[in-house]
Amino acid sequence: MTQPNSEQRSETSGTIRCLCGACSITVANNQASCYVRCGCNDCRQFAQYAHLKGGVSPVSLPRLFYFKSDILTVEGKENIKGLKLRAGGASTRLCCKNCYSVLAVDHPAHWGNVFLMLPDYCSHDCDLTRPLSAYINMSEFYAEEDPKWEPYVPLFESFRFRRQRMQYNLLPDRIPWRDSFKPKGIRLSDLIKQLNTVEILNLNESKKSIPDLEEQIENLNRDLRSLKNQLILMREIADASEFSKSKAQSELISLSEKLLHYEKRFGDTRSS
Ligand SMILES: [Zn+2]
Ligand SMILES: [Zn+2]
Repeated sequence: MTQPNSEQRSETSGTIRCLCGACSITVANNQASCYVRCGCNDCRQFAQYAHLKGGVSPVSLPRLFYFKSDILTVEGKENIKGLKLRAGGASTRLCCKNCYSVLAVDHPAHWGNVFLMLPDYCSHDCDLTRPLSAYINMSEFYAEEDPKWEPYVPLFESFRFRRQRMQYNLLPDRIPWRDSFKPKGIRLSDLIKQLNTVEILNLNESKKSIPDLEEQIENLNRDLRSLKNQLILMREIADASEFSKSKAQSELISLSEKLLHYEKRFGDTRSS
């Protein structure tokens, strides 16, 4: 069994607030339980959407901190709205209706025990000293590798393979998420239910992942190789015809020279 008592005794609450101050949530535990950085299209697309709506500028590789899903108080609930990028989308983002700060993100893969907080898109007084656990979804990150990235932190290009999902779930900071706990307040999923509606943005799915781009490049290279081969072939045919032309000409010349030679030597053979 886990030891919830020792953990609960050390808990200090923390507040996650929108940048205009219209809404906030206070969590029972102000300590982040895990820290990852995400290169996914959805993080970027939502940040671009929020920025268009008046939110802060998107960052290139957002910091994602996980907090125990235990919310003690919610202020300005009427100013919070739930948003999904698409109808089938997994993540529900809780935003301020005025300033489009992101207060929290719910994802089914979090077992309902934790939620995401993005300090690049809100203000807070929480403890974010947790060391970085992983870079995730990096196959969707277009920019070059940053020399400042931590070299010994695992980097997951995707979670396409089961072993990637297993390895990710075995990261020490993620293991305790599976343990159920009794919240002092409400879970984020309860808050989402209280918001009644979750707006579906229906944004187009971005297909430009690095594997997609690599496939496009590979296809273009294949076309280019095929064109080059055709060109070589055409040149060979042209060269061959030139060659046979000149060969035929020189043969013609030598033949006519031979003919002339025979004529001089033996007289006009045609007349006889
Ligand atoms: Zn706000
Ligand atoms: Zn992401």
